This record gives sequence, structure tokens and C-alpha cells, in this order.
Amino acid sequence: MAFKVERRKTRTCMVGHLPIGGDHLISVQTMTKTKTDDVAATLRQIHAAQDAGVDVVRVAVPDKAAAQALPEILRQSRVPLIADIHYAHGLALDALDAGMHCVRLNPGNVKLDLMQKIVDRAHQLGRAIRIGINAGSIEPRKGLQVNKDMELEMADLMVDTAVEWCERFESWGFRNFKVSLKSSDPLTTIYTNRRFARLTDVPLHMGVTEAGTLEASTVKSCVGLGTLLSEGIGDTIRISITGNPVDEVRIGLDLLASLRLRKKNVDIVSCPSCGRDEVDGGVEVLARAVEEAMKGYKGNITVSVLGCIVNGPGEAGQADFGIVGAKDAGYLYKGEKLLCRVPNDKLVAALMKEIAIEEARRKADKSVAALA
Ligand code: SF4
Repeated sequence: MAFKVERRKTRTCMVGHLPIGGDHLISVQTMTKTKTDDVAATLRQIHAAQDAGVDVVRVAVPDKAAAQALPEILRQSRVPLIADIHYAHGLALDALDAGMHCVRLNPGNVKLDLMQKIVDRAHQLGRAIRIGINAGSIEPRKGLQVNKDMELEMADLMVDTAVEWCERFESWGFRNFKVSLKSSDPLTTIYTNRRFARLTDVPLHMGVTEAGTLEASTVKSCVGLGTLLSEGIGDTIRISITGNPVDEVRIGLDLLASLRLRKKNVDIVSCPSCGRDEVDGGVEVLARAVEEAMKGYKGNITVSVLGCIVNGPGEAGQADFGIVGAKDAGYLYKGEKLLCRVPNDKLVAALMKEIAIEEARRKADKSVAALA
């Protein structure tokens, strides 16, 4: 029996054409880091994220100039867009009127009657709302003196606040929303999302916020989100990086692929190398050359790249193709079958040739099946 994550049963929230929750693929989000009113720069980041495989992009709407830029940005985006709003209820209404597919709000910083106005407008226009609860902005209960030993109480308060807002939205007749419970601490992220998941069927947007630069964020996000995702919790994710949105998308997709929640079109399985590595210059050189050669490949394929014969044939047997380093000339496998032995400097070219042959064969099979 194959291992498979059993997803938590959630209802679906529609963000434009993108369904979030239910049995739908877990989507990957990012956020632009430009001034939103710089339309060209914002679109450059959105398009780069699209090319990397993003499903939905969030843009900050801090002022009127940003709100006025939204129609043009929407016009040129292929993915649904979310407006990130803080405090200013008027900007949320502007964003919805401009056609934004979703607004992300921290309901604690909008007055109740104004919040209801936003919910009514979203309902009327068929848009979504993300209820964003952040550890950093949660108000302690009246009379509660918070100190650093009260993490659990504050985490519970985050969840209780989120549940209260869900109930309030539903009492206003609105259900097209999702929730995020974000903290910069992976353990708090795990606790709050787990608890919320037990209490409701509302789809969850997950992220470890303010997680740092590329390396720090990758570790924290993969610990926090990976733990939850492996338990079936989470419907859409963002890897929050102080850096390029494309990295957020790339790592988000890799994380989901590592748990078999999304399929990567090119999966390169390479060994870490050790004293047995027989590849000239080390297996890293070979793995990077394969990565480079596979860039832009559109099909679905797994290629293993191993430095020596110890695990090489076994890993190749689990992949579509495998190359295994050996002194002077490496081995090329198609699944378990050894195809040939090739000088190390010609291994990548030989691999690409075999992939092309396989592609042509699959295409021909498809044409025959279509005619049958
Ligand atoms: S496959 Fe060979 S070279 Fe690579 S880590 Fe394992 S033993 Fe070392």
C-alpha cells in the first residue's frame, strides 16, 4: 500500500476561478513586494510567480494609489488576486469594486459595522475574504496580563478569535471565506492550526509569518507547515520569505511535492555524495547539469542521479530514468533496466536523448489510442 496524506474535510472557498479547500489541490500563494501603484513592477513579479507555478497572488493595498492600480493589474494577471488590507475599510470596498477576487483582513482592526459592510459587498459580488489572525496583533482578553510564559493562552485566544469571526460571518449569511492563523513561531503555528482544524470545516491558509530570509524561512516553514500538511491540515500555503516571490512559490511547490500533495513535473532525486562518489568533480556537478538540462521540461518525470553503484540501481528502479556515477564512465538506466555505459562527460546528453525517445514513444502511443 502506498503512503498518502488523508486531507482534512473542509468546505470550498472560491477565489476567482480557484477553489480552495475540499478535495482541490492545495494551492500555493505568494505576495508581491513592490509598491502596488508601480503597475509595471508589480506585474513583473506577478508574471514571474505565474511562470514559477503560483496559483494566487496577494498585493498590498495600503492607500488610494494602490487601489487605483488594481484594475490594470487584474487585467494583466492570469491568476486570481487578493488585496491585503489593514485598518482602512474603504480600501477593502475599493478593492472589491475593482474586481479583486479576495480581500485579506485582520477583522480585529476594522470596526464591526464596517466589517459587516465589507462582508455584504463581498457576498453581493461573489468574492472571498480571508480572516487573517496574527499572533503579533491579537489583543489579550480584558484584565489578562500577558507575559512570555503565556504562549498557550495567547494561542488559544487566536483560535477562539478566529472561530468567533467565522460564526459572525456565517450569522451575516456569508460563507465564502478562509482563515489564517499566523505566527513567526512554527510551534505556535502548528498548535493554532491543529486546534482550529478540529473545531471547524473552514479552509485554512497556512504560513509561518516573518520567517526570515531564504534559508531561515525554508527551515521554519517546512517544519511548521510540513508537520500540519502531513496531518492533512491546510488548503493553501504561503512560504513567507524576505526575498524573491519566485522562491516562495518554488519552495511551496517543493514542500507539497515532498508530501505527494502536488506533482512536480521534474523531480530530481540526487544523493548527498560521500567518499564513494565516482563522478568527476562530484555528483553535485552532475545533478546541477541534469537540473539545467531539464529546465523548461513540460512532462512529468523523475530522474535519479547517484554518485556510485551502492544505491544507484535501486534508486533508478524507482525513477523514470537514473544515472549512476562510476570510474570514467557512468551507467544510464531506464527504470530498472540498464541501457548503457557512457563516458561521464556525455552522461547528461545521453540521458536527454533517451528522454526524447521516450517522449516520442508516448506521443505515438497516444495518437494510436486516439485513432482506436
Ligand atoms: S550513492 Fe554512493 S556516492 Fe552517493 S551518497 Fe550513497 S554511497 Fe555516497
